[in-house]
Amino acid sequence: MVKVAINGYGTIGKRVADAVALQDDMEVIGVSKTRPNYESKMAVQKGYNLYVGIPEREKSFAEAGIEISGTVDDMIEEADVVVDCTPGNIGPENLKKYQKAGVKAIYQGGEKHTLTGLSFNSFGNYADSLGKDCTRVVSCNTTGLTRSLKPIEDFVGIKKIRAVMVRRGGDPYQVNKGPINAVVPNPPTVPSHHGPDLATVMYGANIVTVALLVPTTLMHQHNLMVELRDDVSVDDIIDVWEKRSRILLLNAKDGLGSTAEFMEYAKELGRSRNDLFEIPIWKESINVVDGELFYMQAVHQESDVVPENIDAIRALLELEENNEKSIAKTNKAMGIL
Ligand code: NAD
Repeated sequence: MVKVAINGYGTIGKRVADAVALQDDMEVIGVSKTRPNYESKMAVQKGYNLYVGIPEREKSFAEAGIEISGTVDDMIEEADVVVDCTPGNIGPENLKKYQKAGVKAIYQGGEKHTLTGLSFNSFGNYADSLGKDCTRVVSCNTTGLTRSLKPIEDFVGIKKIRAVMVRRGGDPYQVNKGPINAVVPNPPTVPSHHGPDLATVMYGANIVTVALLVPTTLMHQHNLMVELRDDVSVDDIIDVWEKRSRILLLNAKDGLGSTAEFMEYAKELGRSRNDLFEIPIWKESINVVDGELFYMQAVHQESDVVPENIDAIRALLELEENNEKSIAKTNKAMGIL
């Protein structure tokens, strides 16, 4: 069993921990928190060994009556791989610790590609992370783009991608984020960083993205215009996506015409935390006009990268040489459609 440590038990970290716990070839040896809050208490209640992310705060955990197993440095020492789910830009400092301890590391999309020089998506470039010391799972938005675009690239070839990304203002718990009552071009410059990020896992992608922040917390929403190398029909495209996992073709006419209804659908699936690991594409939105494919999709930002983190662990530790085998194993353990 591969020993996995989760550094930063927040939105992404707690989901990755639970997903690791579902696999039969890896185990969670510990999770780290910087504050003795309810998430720390619940991590211990769930049976995870809790380590203090900022060693100087050890006393505050004792004062809150929370049992800890040591500091983050102790946790790193015990692990084969650390999944770093700390907020963006803490990564460079942590990388030194991982290198010193000789432990492999997986970063998230909030860190820059240059930190690792290697980014990861299960469908895009799994093989490139095989046996490597560290990699970076691309952001929720880039993961969503790769999921739907890579199968199209493989099927017919893509000349050019244009995407308008409508981004949620913050995660549901983030009371300090916004906007509350505005549409904010973010960044206000064109292109946004999402396009270059796609090219770190779908090499050579010719893509320009623009992005807006809106007052919603549930999901991101993407609008894509894709010039294809050959003329294909809408049915061909549907056929390609239907054969892929981690993509859902859903109908607005079935009562799934919005991100709110997608989240309700996830609840009906009985998913823990209402997670929707798959990328839902509105089936009615798919059209091909003069060799250009149009479609609209949504991204559950809190959860779509979670299965990719599991596959990234298998790639770094060389538990599976083949991406499809790892994807199938992860999907089965997590009940992914
Ligand atoms: P978060 O703020 O919800 O959680 C971060 C956790 O790290 C918290 O539990 C915090 O206590 C802990 N932490 C803070 N400083 C630390 C330190 N110095 N050492 C150890 N732990 C520390 O953040 P998140 O949303 O889970 O984001 C984590 C990473 O995942 C970021 O790179 C982010 O860009 C990326 N990401 C986030 C989302 C999303 O929608 N939330 C989606 C995809 C990727």
